[in-house]
Amino acid sequence: MTVSDLQARTSELTGVIERASSTQELEEFKLAHLVRKGSIAALFEDLKNVPKDTKPAVGKALNELRKAVEEKFAEKEQSLGGGVKKASQSSIDLTLPSRPIPVSAPGHEHPLISVLNEMVSIFVDMGFSVAYGPEVEDDEHNFTKLNFPADHPARDMQDTFFVKPSADWKVGSDVKPLVLRTHTSPVQVRLMESGKLPIRAVIPGRVYRNEAISARSAACFFQLEGLVVDKGVSMADLKGVAESFSKQFYGEDSTIRLRPSFFPFTEPSIECDVSCYICKGKGCRICKHSGWLEVFGAGMVHPNVLKMCGIDPEIYSGYAFGMGIDRTAMMRYGVSDIRLFTENDLRFLEQF
Ligand SMILES: [Zn+2]
Repeated sequence: MTVSDLQARTSELTGVIERASSTQELEEFKLAHLVRKGSIAALFEDLKNVPKDTKPAVGKALNELRKAVEEKFAEKEQSLGGGVKKASQSSIDLTLPSRPIPVSAPGHEHPLISVLNEMVSIFVDMGFSVAYGPEVEDDEHNFTKLNFPADHPARDMQDTFFVKPSADWKVGSDVKPLVLRTHTSPVQVRLMESGKLPIRAVIPGRVYRNEAISARSAACFFQLEGLVVDKGVSMADLKGVAESFSKQFYGEDSTIRLRPSFFPFTEPSIECDVSCYICKGKGCRICKHSGWLEVFGAGMVHPNVLKMCGIDPEIYSGYAFGMGIDRTAMMRYGVSDIRLFTENDLRFLEQF
């Protein structure tokens, strides 16, 4: 390697750059000569084999070569539209349209709320009004007036979230703790206490249970309850409403069945099942091959409950029902984990 070799090489390389007619060709040139393993780097590598006496001159000529080639390259890059080096290094395609920015507004209903609203509107069409109540309740409304015996397991710490009524409250105090309501039934008590009869209302809302959180159960979920109190109300009315609701919500061809059950606040109590709307009663995974889906618990309002709420059970009677919204939404949308509803993951929520 001599000084004249390098001078010849310089004009050769700058000539190649000069003749390049596309950014593609420039890119190929760069890969062949200018990168860390390119031909110019190889010349620097060879410098150690140059005899000591000519090394300073050859080194200088080599630096001049690199400078000349780089300058020529930058100049050509500019004239061919520029940005070749930057764009190829970071692989940004400047012609791509930008990604849409996720905007929650105007947004849409949460799947739980849309199921709840659909149910509520079916009952509103049947003449029910909609009632709401507090989520932090007192013992009287959540348990006592609903005929829960003092030793009922729901009153246990295991099942209920208790709230201190005051900062200095202690366990064992005469004052009963407040609770996060375990059902929407305390709103029924409030409706009956108000003394405005007849009552025909549905109560949507959040309820809380001190449960281990799993794919099937959450500590906070939605319920929809209904209450009708009037003169001459019977189980037949309850069955008629249950049937009408099922046909509107689960499909015209759905049928219901009533099974005896037990709740402290109703007597008699029933569970209402609806024929599985997926398999039409033949049996499938959703209905656990029974052909039936458990839809709600219901019954005639217990005379004790009416009495405690100031209503004469000799004159008035009523029925009540309640259903879980989350499980219904899980069945409807084929969601296998209840926690997905509250994780606020847009990838999940945007599917509805
Ligand atoms: Zn089924």
